Amino acid sequence: MNDVIIVGGGPVGLLLAGELRLAGADPLVLEAAAGAARRNRSFGLRGINGRTSQSLRLRGLTEVLREAQREMFDALAVKGAADGTDVARGLLHLMKGNRARGHFGGLPLVEEESELRPGAAGGFILKQPVLEQILADWATGLGVRILTNREVVDVVQEDSAVRAVLADGRVERAAYLVGCDGGRSVVRKRSGIAFPGTDATMTGRVASAELADPGAVRSSMHGPGGLVNLSLVPGEISTIEFDGGPDDRDAPLTAAELQGSIRRASGVDVTVTRLDDGIRYSDNTRQAATYRQGRVLLAGDAAHVHSPIGGQGLNLGLQDAMNLGWKLGLVVRGSAPESLLDTYTAERHPVGERVLRNTRAQVALMRPGPQSAALREVLAETLEIPAAKRHFIAMANGIDVDYAPGSEHPLVGRFSPIPVTSENGRALLVAPSDEIRAAVNGHAVQVVESDFEQALLVRPDGYVAWAASDGGTAGLREVLDGWYKAKRSFKM
Ligand SMILES: Cc1cc2nc3c(=O)[nH]c(=O)nc-3n(C[C@H](O)[C@H](O)[C@H](O)COP(=O)(O)OP(=O)(O)OC[C@H]3O[C@@H](n4cnc5c(N)ncnc54)[C@H](O)[C@@H]3O)c2cc1C
Repeated sequence: MNDVIIVGGGPVGLLLAGELRLAGADPLVLEAAAGAARRNRSFGLRGINGRTSQSLRLRGLTEVLREAQREMFDALAVKGAADGTDVARGLLHLMKGNRARGHFGGLPLVEEESELRPGAAGGFILKQPVLEQILADWATGLGVRILTNREVVDVVQEDSAVRAVLADGRVERAAYLVGCDGGRSVVRKRSGIAFPGTDATMTGRVASAELADPGAVRSSMHGPGGLVNLSLVPGEISTIEFDGGPDDRDAPLTAAELQGSIRRASGVDVTVTRLDDGIRYSDNTRQAATYRQGRVLLAGDAAHVHSPIGGQGLNLGLQDAMNLGWKLGLVVRGSAPESLLDTYTAERHPVGERVLRNTRAQVALMRPGPQSAALREVLAETLEIPAAKRHFIAMANGIDVDYAPGSEHPLVGRFSPIPVTSENGRALLVAPSDEIRAAVNGHAVQVVESDFEQALLVRPDGYVAWAASDGGTAGLREVLDGWYKAKRSFKM
């Protein structure tokens, strides 16, 4: 029997698989698509936000991300120059200066040079398939097994196991199963987990296409029916229309449909001469009522869907994976009590709820008409107030997440205030005295030498689980007992 089956080898499934492996479990990834096929159909760029960048830095992936981003910008600059556009240049300048912090409903979030703090968590911008390849290489390097061409059609829970039934009739069993199978998750549906929320109000279209007169539309063009956007990727064009949502999201996108959409959204009479490929999306906004039901868990889009405006879905899902990986790894190995898994929904559901709220707000901000235009102007003015801008940057970058609001020590529940790495996925003990060192002796905790003035116990996902300003150990044992049933469950 497998330790854990992960259904879906998208970005969230891949990160989770690596995290489980680091925690000592042996996960099996079942991916429906054949080979790398799923990685080829992605449009636009993905912002890897501040918090996700910190998480990936924790695992030693910063350099490979930086190199991939550099290669992409070079390629965009070359392609942009060839196409007579250089839309990437402005962004490249901001990224190089570590000042770009995403956007809120199209309003750019940019830090001024004077606002930059040392070690500020900048993000990355990449094409999603590139990120997925990086995660796949990392996970397989850790020994994760990934099987492609394995579509899961049913999930059945038994007393001591869970069964995944495949489309070809084969069955795989595991102690736990995690649905990382995207917004239309079979795992969620077959497990009967409710998915309440709000229906689509808009249709987004993104396509690789050519216009007879490329100069006829500008980037971020608000028109009578919606919005037309020229992607940072030369040759890609997107539209948003507030039309009640797509009738059929999966029907092939045609040049005629895109042309009609650009005309309605912008009011400009363009002609689309060629369309290679394209997708539709919507602002269907929903969240699973629980992220765990017995031996079945959900992460990523399987647990929450919302409009991609503001670029947060992938980041939200990757943070689910960071939160769940170490906990499920310890539980499945029998090292931690099962109650540790209950903290997954408790910590991640409120974070998801907040993202759903802010993406709904961003949709409202982008609607056509004088009211939304006025709202955009008011918010643009608000963002000139430094504290307000900091608030929006923190929200868009997931850096205001607090897993223990109201805790006695202000650092508990927050991400480590000092940059740390834990490539082997261990918890970290920062600035420990001999007395504190003795208290963690025998647990799978790595001691970090630091001149930081407070003692910290940092969880494997980078969040502070315990902190002390007085050199004492009060509360430390209780935290460790929640994670490790027995001492010496791992070799140090
Ligand atoms: C146009 C657009 C722009 C976006 N921009 C951003 C952005 O800038 N920043 C951001 O954070 N997010 C962005 N997103 C959202 C982001 O792409 C998703 O949130 C992310 O892909 C979710 O990852 P996932 O692994 O949960 O699911 P998916 O990427 O959907 O992966 C699910 C995997 O499961 C597999 N699968 C499905 N069903 C089964 C089954 N039954 N059996 C086996 N395997 C199965 C699929 O083949 C797939 O490989 C954007 C989305 C869109 C559409």
